[in-house]
Amino acid sequence: MRPRLWHPFTQLRGFAPLGRVVAAEGAHLELADGRRVVDGISSWWVNLHGHARPELAAAIAAQAKRLDQVILADFEHPAALALTAALTPLLPAPLAHVFFSDDGSTAVEVALKMAWQHQRSRDPKRQRLVALQGGYHGDTLGAMSVGDRDVFTAAFAGMLIDVELLPFDGEAAAAALRARGDDVVAIILEPMVQCAGGMRLMPAAGLAAIAAAARDVGALVIADEVAVGMGRTGRLWAGAHAGLAPDLMCVSKGITGGTLPLGLTLASEAIYASFLGEDKRSAFLHGHSYTGNPLACAAAVASLALVAAEETPARFAAYEGVYRRWFHRLESHPRLRDPRALGGIFAVDVVGGGGYLDPIGRQLQAEALARGLYIRPLGSVVYLMPPACLSLDDLDGVLQTLWETLCAVLGAP
Ligand SMILES: *Cc1c(COP(=O)(O)O)cnc(C)c1O
Repeated sequence: MRPRLWHPFTQLRGFAPLGRVVAAEGAHLELADGRRVVDGISSWWVNLHGHARPELAAAIAAQAKRLDQVILADFEHPAALALTAALTPLLPAPLAHVFFSDDGSTAVEVALKMAWQHQRSRDPKRQRLVALQGGYHGDTLGAMSVGDRDVFTAAFAGMLIDVELLPFDGEAAAAALRARGDDVVAIILEPMVQCAGGMRLMPAAGLAAIAAAARDVGALVIADEVAVGMGRTGRLWAGAHAGLAPDLMCVSKGITGGTLPLGLTLASEAIYASFLGEDKRSAFLHGHSYTGNPLACAAAVASLALVAAEETPARFAAYEGVYRRWFHRLESHPRLRDPRALGGIFAVDVVGGGGYLDPIGRQLQAEALARGLYIRPLGSVVYLMPPACLSLDDLDGVLQTLWETLCAVLGAP
């Protein structure tokens, strides 16, 4: 009998896993049957520098021997302090304070709750959370509520909070925000690229227009950099493309280099200050058992050192040039449309695709895997988000494999 593993995001009837991964190194996953495949999606966008980096393993091991875990409510510890010190100079203004949690979803929950409590303590008529259509912010209830209403949220419709979803168009969303006026608590968005929603790019000017409108109506801006942060778009933070100055920012996936779960919510001085008061009622009464876990903090400190030493954002920026050299060929295929890239993120749509449930994604996945490349299309949206350790020649080889995969499934152009 198979072990009773319950896989995420998976219909388990008739399901068989693609394989058993027993090791990973650099950009490669190693399967039990000896196959080696390129991890084309950085193991769900978390792996930043490639797998099994000795620097990260050493940092985690050293920390585990010294201090494994301690409660952060009453104590501080060197790893959390080191991460806070390493991170704060890298933050866009006006962010200044670091709150720890466990993953991207909790980083988002924390941001939503901070925004809510901060705003309502000053102006109780603010009671509306706003987000963008097509967004994805995680799978806990608050995070789901600010995401698009789709196949992922349908089963939980009655459990979600009511959120206004604005069009995924900078000017239109800005206008809608101004029209809504002064009851908005905050707008949450993924700067520059909606990732799970189909790798959709928003021009920097659109993002800037939304931020300006939010300022004007007194709504906070929450930048969800969980997927696009840590250099993925060619800048350390995706919001930098648009000069974004968020009030709150969520960071997770790449922060530990893809080794351990960790979520961070960064807050401005103004938000932090509004939680100061005479007793616990005005404090932020939120935390998790593993808040500020020393192992994860140590991994993040070591990963940030690699980001600086290896200029990870610049490496991803160079990926974009390789992707762009393939655009012409991809556009020549009658069944492909809209090749696009920003930094290390590449995507192309299969024409006539039926969205996330389109079975073409599974076909392409199987065909790519047979050629030594692991991908996980979002239905008819085929994308790459590999770790930063590939040489540009190797990345070009990945695109060659992807192209052969597309032609094998969709027919030659
Ligand atoms: C993945 C993701 C999340 C949720 O992060 P988890 O670690 O999976 O909980 C939130 N926001 C964005 C933009 C994401 O891509």
